[in-house]
Amino acid sequence: MTCYCQSNKSFFDCCEPYLRGEAAPTAEALMRSRYSAYVLDKGNYLYKSWSQSTRPSKKSLKQGEPMQWQSLEIINTEAGGALDTEGVVEFKASYLVDEKTETLHEVSRFIKENNRWVYLDGNY
Ligand SMILES: [Zn+2]
Repeated sequence: MTCYCQSNKSFFDCCEPYLRGEAAPTAEALMRSRYSAYVLDKGNYLYKSWSQSTRPSKKSLKQGEPMQWQSLEIINTEAGGALDTEGVVEFKASYLVDEKTETLHEVSRFIKENNRWVYLDGNY
């Protein structure tokens, strides 16, 4: 099975280990795993991979009615490598609303907290 994040890798060689708790090596890998978590409606993972300083309440991340995510396209990345402490990932993610495709275009910032990449915030 190809990964939900459309990396063309298998889910088990891509996002699955991070969803299980392994530390993502780069900001982009973490971003991709968060997209997969959105697809799979894994609110717990979204909470854990969000910076302690900016994350919403655990409750608010339980979506109830999962959104129908369609595709992910990484547009650009800055830093966010194994030796960095900050990174930026620009992406477009599409989802279905009332049978229409909407696109979220976001520039996300990531930081390292306790040696793990976490999502800080985004501009869209
Ligand atoms: Zn993936």
